[in-house]
Amino acid sequence: MRDETKCLHSGYTPKNSEPRVLPIVQSTTYVYDSTEEVASVFDEPTKSLIYSRFANPTVMAVEEKIAELEGGVGAMCTTSGQAATLLSILNICNAGDSFISLTEIYGGTVNLFSYTLKKLGIECIYVDKNASEEEINKAFKENTKAVFGETIANPALSVLDFEKFSKIAHNNGVPLIVDNTFATPVLCKPFEHGADIVIHSTTKYMDGHAVQVGGVIVDSGNFDWTNGKFPELVEPDESYHGISYVESYGKAAYIVKARMQLMRDFGCYPAAHSAFLLNLGLETLAIRMKQYCENATAVAKYFEKSDKIESVTYPGLENDENYELAKKYLKGASGVISLNIKGGRENAIKFMDALKLASNEVHVADIRTCVLHPASETHRQLTDEQLIAAGIEGGMVRFSVGLENIDDIIEDIEQALNAI
Ligand SMILES: *Cc1c(COP(=O)(O)O)cnc(C)c1O
Repeated sequence: MRDETKCLHSGYTPKNSEPRVLPIVQSTTYVYDSTEEVASVFDEPTKSLIYSRFANPTVMAVEEKIAELEGGVGAMCTTSGQAATLLSILNICNAGDSFISLTEIYGGTVNLFSYTLKKLGIECIYVDKNASEEEINKAFKENTKAVFGETIANPALSVLDFEKFSKIAHNNGVPLIVDNTFATPVLCKPFEHGADIVIHSTTKYMDGHAVQVGGVIVDSGNFDWTNGKFPELVEPDESYHGISYVESYGKAAYIVKARMQLMRDFGCYPAAHSAFLLNLGLETLAIRMKQYCENATAVAKYFEKSDKIESVTYPGLENDENYELAKKYLKGASGVISLNIKGGRENAIKFMDALKLASNEVHVADIRTCVLHPASETHRQLTDEQLIAAGIEGGMVRFSVGLENIDDIIEDIEQALNAI
């Protein structure tokens, strides 16, 4: 199946007389005929359902759909994108370990990596995307367990150089974890370019309608966990009566471990109803992404011509510094544009407040056009230094183009620019 078809059909195939639409299994628990059977499910928890803290049929159907869209061996949904990022790291890093991250990443992820993981004893070593291979190799330590980046960085909109970073990660014996939120598997399939683990905030394009927060981790099944750096995937897990994930689950070792250990213990698993809503969003993801790309390209070109705008960042524009990478890795540059408005913070805020159709909200990748001022909103907790490292200036506006008629979007922009 191609993506449009997978969006509609993967994960749930009704049998004779079953519901056409993915059913919401709103149950915390599952019944068995005998104590012996329940016991055997505990021995092999991936075989059957036990408890909805870590597995539920509605959620699992959505997990399968996303795994198929990404081309992975398995996926696990989480209650937020933040939870997906956290678990993707905790699944392979313990206190005393470190990992490498590109500096241009989502502000919430910077907080998680710089402060909260640090408190847990896990060090994030930041590297610049333009640093040489040699410099980045030097940043690796004995205890470094992963490399982390975003396909299209939020909000810097730089495109990940998959070839460079997957090579660096693999030469150092660690997986490349990629946040594919802005591209979605429709515009980029990171596993085809050397990524090993993909995460998403499904809150964004996947849901698309701004109805529920969620996340997902997808495992490519390609990484060799037996290279000596990841004993917890290979050696017996005492908390699961001595199973070895690699031995028992082969290519799916990472994602099964994430569910059996981390989801069991942290319990940040979405409700069936949330998964049902996410599935509705996913059904139209492929066709929506095409339209987002088309609308955003038109808006970016409009901004490019305005004399009120210092610069426009959109990897789909031919003179954008990420254009070549976008052409190499993306089927489209997605729906988010970053603007630097002349006159800095003051004019950026004037422009935003004058918009009538586009809403001012802490969201991105909605079906409706929305705007945000990173320096005073999502990234306000960052120091000036961190703001620069994340590629954020005072005049920067993150413009998330929706699916309204393109002429209405541009007319709204025109009148708001005139208000400056
Ligand atoms: C929003 C976002 C997140 C965090 O996801 P939540 O669902 O808000 O927890 C992570 N990464 C990127 C790129 C995001 O845009």
